[in-house]
Amino acid sequence: LLEIRGLTKAFAGVTVLEGVDLDVDAGSVTVLVGPSGSGKSTLLRCVNHLETPDAGTISVDGSLVAYRRDGDVLRELPERAIAAQRRAIGMVFQQFQLFGHMTALANVIEAPIGVLGVPRREALARGRTLLARVGLEGREDAYPRQLSGGQQQRVAIARALAMEPTLMLFDEPTSALDPALVGEVLEVLRDLAAGGTTMVVVTHEIAFAREVADTVVVLDGGRIVRSGPPAEVLDDGSVRVA
Ligand code: ATP
Ligand code: MG
Repeated sequence: LLEIRGLTKAFAGVTVLEGVDLDVDAGSVTVLVGPSGSGKSTLLRCVNHLETPDAGTISVDGSLVAYRRDGDVLRELPERAIAAQRRAIGMVFQQFQLFGHMTALANVIEAPIGVLGVPRREALARGRTLLARVGLEGREDAYPRQLSGGQQQRVAIARALAMEPTLMLFDEPTSALDPALVGEVLEVLRDLAAGGTTMVVVTHEIAFAREVADTVVVLDGGRIVRSGPPAEVLDDGSVRVA
């Protein structure tokens, strides 16, 4: 589903990603680990075209992200086409970034109505279902400040799912949470994985990786230094996973 070839990115002359190749099958879970500064967030941001790669290609579901081929040349797509591609990729960040003046349900239905043009009644019904799916039945009318960090992050996940993405990207979704609230968010990720959602998850939760990942990918200094089944990769003492 996701195919990355030769992805290279530098900031101000400093190479952050160097020749990254990565394949993610539909319905699989890839956990991305690696030391701070190894390029994990940059990699996810390139997939969404929040960063523009210096070289290499990324395709999702067979379409090049942000580019089209013109003979041997890659030409950037118009902003509107890039926005359409982004809609098919859900992203959840460490900081939940909910709209503070909107209820949980309003946060979830905003983009389906505003961007996809889903009728309000339908969006509301679906929004309630999604909030129930992340364990927030009965909290539809709560504002973010009335919710715990774990609950807010679960609203953020429901909001991303509301766009019916083909691929979900999670960048340290539990790192900003009190330890006591990490489990409830991981539980939602576990549930999504079991339901066949294709996801790439950056996390330091090694127990989660061991249990849920199909593939663990270790990034170090902008290169993939190891990739494979969790047991193989995580038990190899020679790789730095955090
Ligand atoms: P962490 O575990 O701390 O989140 P990471 O693996 O996600 O780290 P990135 O955020 O991808 O790492 O950053 C990789 C390198 O690129 C770092 O050295 C960072 O300082 C640098 N970097 C990231 N974004 C930018 C930017 N917009 N401008 C300049 N440098 C950047
Ligand atoms: Mg990061």
